[in-house]
Amino acid sequence: MKIFCVANQKGGVGKTTTAVNLAAGLSKIGQRVLLVDLDPQGNATMGSGINKQALTSTIYQVLIGAAELKNIRVHSPADYDVLPGNRELAGAEIDLVDMEQRESRLKNALKTVSGDYDFCLIDCPPSLSLLTLNGLVSAHGVIIPMQCEYFALEGLSDLVNTIKRVTNSFNKELKIIGLLRVMFDPRMTLSQQVSAQLEKHFGEKVFKTVIPRNVRLAEAPSYGLPGVVFDPSSRGAAAYLQFAQEMVARMRALESPELPKPLADV
Ligand code: ATP
Ligand code: MG
Repeated sequence: MKIFCVANQKGGVGKTTTAVNLAAGLSKIGQRVLLVDLDPQGNATMGSGINKQALTSTIYQVLIGAAELKNIRVHSPADYDVLPGNRELAGAEIDLVDMEQRESRLKNALKTVSGDYDFCLIDCPPSLSLLTLNGLVSAHGVIIPMQCEYFALEGLSDLVNTIKRVTNSFNKELKIIGLLRVMFDPRMTLSQQVSAQLEKHFGEKVFKTVIPRNVRLAEAPSYGLPGVVFDPSSRGAAAYLQFAQEMVARMRALESPELPKPLADV
């Protein structure tokens, strides 16, 4: 099982949309997928068709050692498994502080199901908190969704520094898999310019797939489905399906010794 965090401490940049649609897209192309909702907002849970209010156990109980991960999995109508989250998770920040191995609790829990899946995707909250740290410590790689706008690069260095710290202290395997351009509007000159700048600075670390701004992706969560399942014919769905294929290819590259380049090259 390869584990990827979808992370960016900026809010509203498309993390959850990316996590649920990539999960659904990977499932569509035959991969076994587990989606972890590490955000107290519970958007990935709801967007996967699971009622966050009706849950008796969530990833919170797993983190504090009160439940086994394999017993709280829920199957999404979009055909992948979910480790659901809800507002209870906000308490984990405080509850975990005094616990042993507080940053490795998700990692240890995920080990118990590693044979059941090809991909595990972790939807992180918009912060560099202990929850996000648990995600990064568990993961092989990070996917960073970015909007191609003026302030897009601001804050990226904080995220890259956090990732480097995690690499040095907890998880040598962690790599930035790539930056994903999302909510892209090709009619905007600024979008084109920022996109070109990203390619220039980050080279191969920028995914080839670009996710367009597409209203069907925004409408899908209210139907409890990822856009990829809600309207497969939409441009947004097609882009996320293409991204799923690109991820499978990058995962294969990750298994070969030369690629991708180490974090130091970012
Ligand atoms: P948060 O930081 O609060 O967790 P997030 O980074 O997870 O936010 P999303 O919830 O995925 O961001 O997206 C923010 C908003 O933008 C949502 O209303 C979502 O439906 C919309 N959105 C995301 N991607 C697209 C897209 N490609 N086209 C149109 N709307 C989009
Ligand atoms: Mg989110």
